[in-house]
Amino acid sequence: MSASGGLDVIQVFGRPNSPDGYDIRDFLGRSVVEFTWTDLISDDDARARAGVMGLDDPRLPVCVLPDGLRIESATVRNIAGHLGWLTAPSATTYDVSIYGAGPAGLSAAVYAASEGLSTVLLERQAVGGQAGTSSLIENYLGFPGGISGAHLAERARQQAVAFGAEILLLQEGVKATFRDGGIVVDLAGGGTMAARTNICATGVEYNRLNLAGEDRLAGAGLYYGAGAAEAPLCSGEDVYVLGGGNSAGQAALHMAAYARTVTVMMRAARPAASMSAYLLDRLTATPNVVIRVRSTVTKLEGDEYLTGFRVRTENDDEVGIETTRLFVLIGGRPNTEWANDTGIIRDANDYLLTGPDLLVNGRPPAHWPLDRQPYHLETSVPGSFAVGDVRHGSIKRVASAVGEGAMAVSLVHRYLEETGQSDD
Ligand SMILES: Cc1cc2nc3c(=O)[nH]c(=O)nc-3n(C[C@H](O)[C@H](O)[C@H](O)COP(=O)(O)OP(=O)(O)OC[C@H]3O[C@@H](n4cnc5c(N)ncnc54)[C@H](O)[C@@H]3O)c2cc1C
Repeated sequence: MSASGGLDVIQVFGRPNSPDGYDIRDFLGRSVVEFTWTDLISDDDARARAGVMGLDDPRLPVCVLPDGLRIESATVRNIAGHLGWLTAPSATTYDVSIYGAGPAGLSAAVYAASEGLSTVLLERQAVGGQAGTSSLIENYLGFPGGISGAHLAERARQQAVAFGAEILLLQEGVKATFRDGGIVVDLAGGGTMAARTNICATGVEYNRLNLAGEDRLAGAGLYYGAGAAEAPLCSGEDVYVLGGGNSAGQAALHMAAYARTVTVMMRAARPAASMSAYLLDRLTATPNVVIRVRSTVTKLEGDEYLTGFRVRTENDDEVGIETTRLFVLIGGRPNTEWANDTGIIRDANDYLLTGPDLLVNGRPPAHWPLDRQPYHLETSVPGSFAVGDVRHGSIKRVASAVGEGAMAVSLVHRYLEETGQSDD
C-alpha cells in the first residue's frame, strides 16, 4: 500500500498497524512532504523490500531519503534531523517567544517577525496544529475552492521564515517561569528559552475515550484526530469516525473518498451545533456515509492492533463491530500543563483567561501588578498573551485563531513600549 506515488520521494517501509509507522506518516503528511509508505506483509517481503531480516527486525521502520540515505529504526525525530529540520536557537533572548505552530502561532510569528521583533516559534510536533490535520478547509477567507490544512500551514511557515522568524520543531515548552520582566521556559529535551514577552498558542489536545487498551492501540487502528495521511490506506475498508463536530464531519468526508463505508457515530441525538451546515448536507448526500446518533463506544478490542469495538446503540443494545480503523474526534482539552505553578489564571477546564475575562466586578485579579487593566489577549501575567483555541472563550476556527495571533503582536508592541524595551 502506498500513501503517495513517485520515485523522488521519501520511502518508508514498516509493519502494518505499527504506531511508529503512523507517527511518521502523520508527521510527513502534515509537513507536506511527499512520501510512500509500504506495509510489509511477511518476512520475505521485509527482506526483499526493506533489507531487514524479517517482520520482527528492530530496524523497522526503514526510511530511505530521496538522496538514497537509509535510516533504520526510523522515528519522526531522526527523520527530521536528517532532513535538517532540527535547529538550535540563534539568540539567548528574543523579543517574543511563541509556543505552538497552529494557525494562531503561525500568524503571530508572521506579524511579529514582519514588524521587526526577534521572534522564535516552538512547536512540539508538526507545523499546522489541528488545522494541519484537516483535509480541506473550506471556510477560510480567500480560498473559495478550499485548501488542505497542511498546505495552508506550510505556506504560513514559509511566510514566517521569509520574514525572519525562527521555527524550532519538535521542541516542547514544559514549564514556564516569569522573572525579571520576561519569561523563561524549560524545554522537554533540556535547555531553556528566554524572551521579553510570550504568546501561548498551544491549542487543544484531543480527548481520549478512557477505555482499557487505549494506550496500546493508539496509532495501531485507533487514531485521535482526522488522520488525513491514513485515508489512502483505508481503501475498500469499513471505517468508523467518532464525534459530532466539524472536525469529525470533515474527516468522514475525506475518508469516504477511499473507504468502502464510513460510519460517523456520536453520543448526541444530532450532530453538534458546531457542525457547519455545508458539511452536514454533504455528509448526508454521500452514499457511503452513515450517521449513527446516540452511540457510545464501550470497549476496544484487539491485542497488537484494533480488531473492533463494542458500542451501545440508540436502542440501548450493545453490539460488536469489526474494524481496524476507528478515528476519535470527541473534542479536546487545552494544552496548559506548562502553566502549572506559574500563578497564571485558568478557568475550571484549564483554558487560559485573558483580558476582560480576568476582571471580577471590573477589577483585575489581586496579584495583577500594574495600574492598567490586562490587555484584551493578555493573561494574568503582564507581557504573557494567549491566542486561539487555548484561550477561554475562543471561537475554535482557523480565521479567529489567525486574527488573534495578529492582534496579540500589536499588544506585544504596546507592552514593550510601556516597559521601555521597544527599539522605537
Ligand atoms: C480535523 C479538523 C478540521 C478542522 N476544520 C476546520 C475548518 O474547516 N475551518 C475552521 O475554521 N476550523 C477548523 N478546525 C478548527 C481549527 O483547526 C482550530 O480552531 C485551529 O487549528 C486552532 O488553532 P490554534 O493555533 O489555536 O491551535 P492548534 O491548531 O491546536 O495548534 C496548537 C499547536 O501547539 C502545539 N503545542 C501544544 N503544546 C505545546 C507546547 N507545550 N510546546 C510547543 N508546542 C505545543 C501543538 O502541537 C499544536 O501544533 C478543524 C479542526 C480539526 C481538528
